[in-house]
Amino acid sequence: MGDAKVIQCPCGFTLRGAGDAEVVAAAQAHARAIHDQELSSDQALSMARPA
Ligand SMILES: [Zn+2]
Repeated sequence: MGDAKVIQCPCGFTLRGAGDAEVVAAAQAHARAIHDQELSSDQALSMARPA
């Protein structure tokens, strides 16, 4: 169990995950589905904050 993390997308959507890997995956899926962009793990991690 990791520490819960959130990523606030510039579009206003908030991604949540139980840990770094989960919130990064959620952000990548959101970026791909909603923004048609590929987000790198490093980019996503840099946006992650403690929930
Ligand atoms: Zn977004």
